[in-house]
Amino acid sequence: MIDLTAPSAVNNLIKKHNFRCRKSMGQNFLADANVVNKIIALASVEKDDVVVEIGPGLGVITRAAAVMAKSVIALELDRSLPPILEETLQGLDNVHVVTGDALETNFDDMVKSIAGHGGQYKIIANLPYYITTPLIMHLLKSRFNMSLCVVMVQQEVAGRMAALPGGKDYGALSVAVQYHTEVRYLFKVPRTVFIPKPEVDSAVVMLATRPGPPVETPDEELFFKIVRGSFGQRRKTLLNSLGAAFSDIPREKLKGLLQNAGIDPLRRGETLNLEEFAGITREIHGFK
Ligand code: SAH
Repeated sequence: MIDLTAPSAVNNLIKKHNFRCRKSMGQNFLADANVVNKIIALASVEKDDVVVEIGPGLGVITRAAAVMAKSVIALELDRSLPPILEETLQGLDNVHVVTGDALETNFDDMVKSIAGHGGQYKIIANLPYYITTPLIMHLLKSRFNMSLCVVMVQQEVAGRMAALPGGKDYGALSVAVQYHTEVRYLFKVPRTVFIPKPEVDSAVVMLATRPGPPVETPDEELFFKIVRGSFGQRRKTLLNSLGAAFSDIPREKLKGLLQNAGIDPLRRGETLNLEEFAGITREIHGFK
């Protein structure tokens, strides 16, 4: 069996199949046993688990997951990869390779139709960089029935997901991810363990789905409109940036609403925590 964690074996496999890594599909294959093992261990993959892998590539994570899980559904966009996966996943009869676009996939439906499983599942992935944020947003907003997601992303994106108020990394992505899940930054992965080598380092994060949002808002859409508005113009005060996003609310009124929520209108959006965004949402919702 080919050792997919040995760079020379990976290069040989790629050559044998005449495969060309496509940057446009975010193809950077992981070739490091330690990183693979850590991902599987930190996701606590166990024999009752149904695991969905986004972008199996050559199958290095897929294989490690399949040994531990009940079944693995591997969703791959590139149609030239399944023939290679047939070779690398030989002998593992609990893996189902599916071709399709993760951005367009209803994961609950896919798991149900392929594994006949209506319960929770785990998502693991070394995510293609070109769609990291839209894909994370697709997973979160659709409220798929996943219990957790252990994903490798660019280190800078991992930092933004886990960022706390006040820092330069804290933004609309931090709030969205933390609203839907409990985020844990797990570990850094240097660019040198990938074939081909990407331009930036990566990091693995765990997003554990919460039973419900950590803060109470009367209107989720309004909450996120406020979040986006608050981060829209970072150097502006909250009053000015929200004033631009809610031009239908008179400035004096908006100032009063912020004060009612216990928030100084001169603060900047990036200093607000989720509870404070929720407080503003309650005030604006009451006014509208
Ligand atoms: N998991 C493998 C491959 C990571 S590279 C490893 O760690 O080595 C990212 C993978 O995602 C590639 O196989 C790429 O073809 C696939 N991919 C890219 N865009 C995708 C999409 N929209 N939906 C599903 N898979 C996608």
